[in-house]
Amino acid sequence: MAEAAYMMSIGGRSVAGAGEMDVVNPADGRAFAKAPDASREQLDMAVDAARKAFPQWSQTPIEERKALVSRLGDAIQDNLEPLKRLLTREQGKPLADAEWEIGGSAQWCQAGAMLELPIETNEDSDERISITRHVPLGVVGAIAPWNFPVILAIWKIVPALIAGNTIVVKPSPFTPLSTLKVGELAQSIFPPGVFNVVSGGDNLGPWMTSHPGIDKISFTGSTATGKKVMESASKDLKRITLELGGNDAAIVMPDVDVEQVVPELFWAAFKNTGQICVATKRMYVHNAIYDQVADGLADYARQVAVGDGAQQGVQLGPVQNKLQYDRVLRLMDGAKAENLRFLVGGEPIKSDGYFIPVTIVDNPPDDAPVVTEEAFGPVLPLLRFEDVDDVVRRVNATSYGLGGSIWTSDLEAARRIGERLRCGTVWVNETQYLTPFAPFAGHGQSGFGVENGVSGLLEYAVPQTVSIRKKMSVA
Ligand code: NAD
Repeated sequence: MAEAAYMMSIGGRSVAGAGEMDVVNPADGRAFAKAPDASREQLDMAVDAARKAFPQWSQTPIEERKALVSRLGDAIQDNLEPLKRLLTREQGKPLADAEWEIGGSAQWCQAGAMLELPIETNEDSDERISITRHVPLGVVGAIAPWNFPVILAIWKIVPALIAGNTIVVKPSPFTPLSTLKVGELAQSIFPPGVFNVVSGGDNLGPWMTSHPGIDKISFTGSTATGKKVMESASKDLKRITLELGGNDAAIVMPDVDVEQVVPELFWAAFKNTGQICVATKRMYVHNAIYDQVADGLADYARQVAVGDGAQQGVQLGPVQNKLQYDRVLRLMDGAKAENLRFLVGGEPIKSDGYFIPVTIVDNPPDDAPVVTEEAFGPVLPLLRFEDVDDVVRRVNATSYGLGGSIWTSDLEAARRIGERLRCGTVWVNETQYLTPFAPFAGHGQSGFGVENGVSGLLEYAVPQTVSIRKKMSVA
């Protein structure tokens, strides 16, 4: 993998941006690299290249397409070391977490090869045979966020290419570099124009969602932006998949082993500095064990090493960017102004980087912004509950519906409670377990459409039914 310059990949060539933009290391607040800032003409070039590559790529047998996607996985794995260091530098996450993301991206490419596009026989009679296949859409525009820049782009790239589409990928302007490098690796694997990467500022996303040459937008990001994407894509009825925000709840029942569960609950909320769409963002703990869990979480938090993710032993990095840092601080200050009590944290760390300490708010009211809003940072409300029906009602009282978890030794009760939650994924005694084979979807304002599994693959195709009348009767 070439080091220095960061280039876009358009039509099989490395292309410098019409402009440049700074990329900042969130651990020290300093710009350390320049990324290409694409012009509208450069986006047009990428879309044109993808359109030109589509006819041949869509006719390439699916097994060959899968083999190339799998080779991309090998290339990512072979470049794990430089990619993970780069990811830590631009995103802020500890190296071990960056390794998980890059390794996971490689695995996702390989797992894609195991997914099959179904072919359905609807009728096979003396008169007629009717078969439905799932054919590609054309050019996919993939728009990714900054919390897991590589793997969330891969979640789109793998099914889009396997289903026979070509793609233009746009990473977040906060974290473009590792995705640009993955694009560079892809150029020696795919025919020119099949896999393009463009990076740029705030205009690039809207240019993509309104581009007449793009047939589908697959977007991961905030609910507010998702609504704009849907509105813009509606103009020419582009297909869309939207993976949006969440406000996942954990329900902690009184029969858990508190000592054992505390570290698990901690990481459910604070992994990746709380910047996970399916992080636990509200934690409801039964009255009988609330004080024990509260003390356990606060003690655990005090031992966790917060710092520059590139340093050995660091477990939690900074918030990824200044905008998000200010948002999370505002939420924290709001809680202070409401005289809410902090079990731990609550004061920003003095640093040039965007560091916020683990902050746990002690039983705030249900309508406090720290409960109702997605913090997307290391701030967690811990809430008491007494009655299961009541907690299910409180958990469901949100417009989000991404994930949720139940912690108990009674697995049957957990299943029954889980089925009552209005969200796309329910975990019992764990969180954030995601696989390439299970559909991942948001209910309500957490999303539109599905990623992963065969259902996710089908989002990149459209059914085509061919109905053949076997014999024509002579009049
Ligand atoms: P964001 O919505 O600000 O940005 C996401 C992407 O959209 C970026 O690439 C951005 O440049 C682009 N964009 C911005 N405005 C656009 C517009 N008008 N049209 C088209 N594209 C536009 O989100 P973010 O702050 O990068 O990510 C954090 C959010 O993403 C959180 O809400 C989080 O929960 C959510 N998220 C969801 C999932 C999921 O799978 N459901 C996964 C990760 C993150």
